[in-house]
Amino acid sequence: SLRAGIVGLPNVGKSTLFNAVVENGKAQAANFPFCTIEPNVGIVAVPDPRLRVLSELSKSQRSVPASVQFVDIAGIVKGASQGEGLGNKFLSHIREVDSILQVVRCFEDNDIIHVNGKIDPKSDIDVINLELIFSDLDQIEKRLEKLKKGKAKDSQSKVKEEAERSALEKIQKILMDGKPAKSVPLTDFEKDSIRHLCLLTMKPIIYVANVAESDLSEPSSNPHVREVVKLASDVQSGLVTISAQVESELTELPMEERTEYLKSLGVSESGLENLIRATYNILGLRTYFTSGEKESKAWTILAGMTAPQAAGIIHTDFEKGFIRAETVRNISIS
Ligand code: GDP
Repeated sequence: SLRAGIVGLPNVGKSTLFNAVVENGKAQAANFPFCTIEPNVGIVAVPDPRLRVLSELSKSQRSVPASVQFVDIAGIVKGASQGEGLGNKFLSHIREVDSILQVVRCFEDNDIIHVNGKIDPKSDIDVINLELIFSDLDQIEKRLEKLKKGKAKDSQSKVKEEAERSALEKIQKILMDGKPAKSVPLTDFEKDSIRHLCLLTMKPIIYVANVAESDLSEPSSNPHVREVVKLASDVQSGLVTISAQVESELTELPMEERTEYLKSLGVSESGLENLIRATYNILGLRTYFTSGEKESKAWTILAGMTAPQAAGIIHTDFEKGFIRAETVRNISIS
């Protein structure tokens, strides 16, 4: 399933958020057939009320939601790309994720030290971005060095290597300007040629503004949040406001009390649900369902896929021998 990596400076609320994810996953595991959870990976179901409705209509024995894996990537500090802190080993974990969730501290608390001495979202975001950029630059330099030796055996691989070299040189230039690789316009062929490098700054980013519970109902009243909103929109990144503390408290409440608690804070949905939805959106993912007596199941596809292509996600034979899809409009969800 989809992997989202949680990054951020120390003391911004990453572990608090990650632990809430894990607890949530454990609570769901009783109802859903989830696999085991690695120490730094938490799995949560994608909330989707349509699945329950379909499941009831088909009298399914079980329902299987789509899931997102959250990976806790600790250890990014200033200088990580140069081996500071836990360094490069952790940056390499980010290569394996589909999107990056950067937790940004927007809550004030004098008892909890901020690594730079004060709450400053812009500086926090710059520090992390710079580490990602340095790490990519390093990787690109090594790769270009290798390409220079030109080991391509036939003309087809020569063309491919040439595309890769030219793409990497363009990206290198942009990175030197402090901008992410994803801001470089590339042809599909060029994109394919560099995919194997899993560049960190090619990945979509969602900023997770971690606020105090008193800010949840009206996050924009917090100037730090307003700053993150602006920064996120400047670089076409996603943004979710969350209170890691509240998420962690929610996991300790029985399900039926959670809604009540959220209501008392002036919100209708847990931040985790928003986060999952934002992750889906920024990656351009959509869901479709299969439904029958045995099970109702959510499948994840890319926006824009045709129905036969979507069927191919289940089995390639279904794409070749496609029969039909049913569309349902306005299922009333209560
Ligand atoms: P990490 O270093 O980024 O993993 O940060 P932690 O999750 O360990 O959080 C650092 C400290 O900040 C802990 O003492 C948390 O309880 C606290 N903390 C996390 N989120 C919030 C929040 O939303 N409000 C307040 N006041 N404290 C928080």
